[in-house]
Amino acid sequence: MDDSDDQRIETRAIHAGQDPDAETGALMTPIHANSTYQQDGPGEHRGYEYSRTGNPTRTDLESNLASLEGGAHGRAFSSGMGSINTVLNLLEAGDHVVTGDDVYGGTHRIFTQVYEQYDLSFDFVDTTDHDAVADAMREETALLWVETPTNPLMRVNDIGALADLADEYDALCAVDNTFATPYLQRPLEHGADIVSHSLTKYLGGHSDVVGGALVTDSEELDEQIGFYQNAVGATPSPFDCFLVLRGTKTLPVRMDRHCDNARELASWLEGHERVDRVYYPGLESHPQHELAAEQMDDFGGMLSFEVDGSLSQASDVVSETEVFTLAESLGGVESLIEQPAAMTHAAIPREERVAAGLADGLVRVSVGVEHVDDLKADLDRAFDAAF
Ligand SMILES: *Cc1c(COP(=O)(O)O)cnc(C)c1O
Repeated sequence: MDDSDDQRIETRAIHAGQDPDAETGALMTPIHANSTYQQDGPGEHRGYEYSRTGNPTRTDLESNLASLEGGAHGRAFSSGMGSINTVLNLLEAGDHVVTGDDVYGGTHRIFTQVYEQYDLSFDFVDTTDHDAVADAMREETALLWVETPTNPLMRVNDIGALADLADEYDALCAVDNTFATPYLQRPLEHGADIVSHSLTKYLGGHSDVVGGALVTDSEELDEQIGFYQNAVGATPSPFDCFLVLRGTKTLPVRMDRHCDNARELASWLEGHERVDRVYYPGLESHPQHELAAEQMDDFGGMLSFEVDGSLSQASDVVSETEVFTLAESLGGVESLIEQPAAMTHAAIPREERVAAGLADGLVRVSVGVEHVDDLKADLDRAFDAAF
């Protein structure tokens, strides 16, 4: 691993944690479909005892992910929620958590509907407002959970400033880096303690696997995370680990195309007569464009826009596309389109939703790697059909 620390991320994506198989020379990491391991004598194992605790395919994936994030330790889970759950396992009854008021819906759900009953408490604030974050922090605050860019309005949070704030309160700062990926943003470099991922999205990249991961530089945190990974058991199958490894090899080339397509689509939509407003950190009109330019290497493949029309006209737009698939989730090579007010954010009461800036006509897009002209033509056709 020493040499690979100097290598660039494009090279590490392909090689980190993935040496050819020592016995056969097989280039690709074998899928170790296996639950238990022969021991040389009682307690004398060769690094593996039981596959919930450790599996060689998973080890390769964990090393690869740690390298991508520039961290010393990686741990893989059976879903992004499995990794988020593990961060909450690090807390104790009575602890307090501060997070964003536009945090991922599943994160909001596990915080309020699972962990409040175990005497953890949560405050949801606008994390772009550092005074609001400071006001919410208390002596019992043990975790500041940050997402950036956020969903679906693509707000950008200042990881360095928030990690400093967490430090002042001796709280952990964890960053959900699912939207940006380590190709565009490495939270550990900005002082975060833990990076969390849904591997289901860009890292897997092909809409064919569900997974999660945590990366940290701290040996002590990694030991605790490893304990809960094994004790709770939300571990990924060797086949799922193989699929994610297959995905991470092309992360840099895919992200380049995702970013190029999203940038071009965002500026095209900004000038479109049927569009009121576009939310994309790469646009100069984005309120945190400068922060995004400093913190990120490029602006990502996610964007949202407001259709200049009713809820039902926006529904028609997302139903009429043919290249964009109407679906939740994100981060695959294919473009997806959805209407937060009717889909991902429908559980939020309308008044609250509108107050939070989620207009009825808001449309969220996961821009894929197709030809951007086909994406534009598809949206134009959908606008024509809806109006
Ligand atoms: C999808 C997602 C998750 C949850 O991950 P799963 O793999 O679906 O469990 C967490 N955070 C963000 C930002 C996500 O997009």
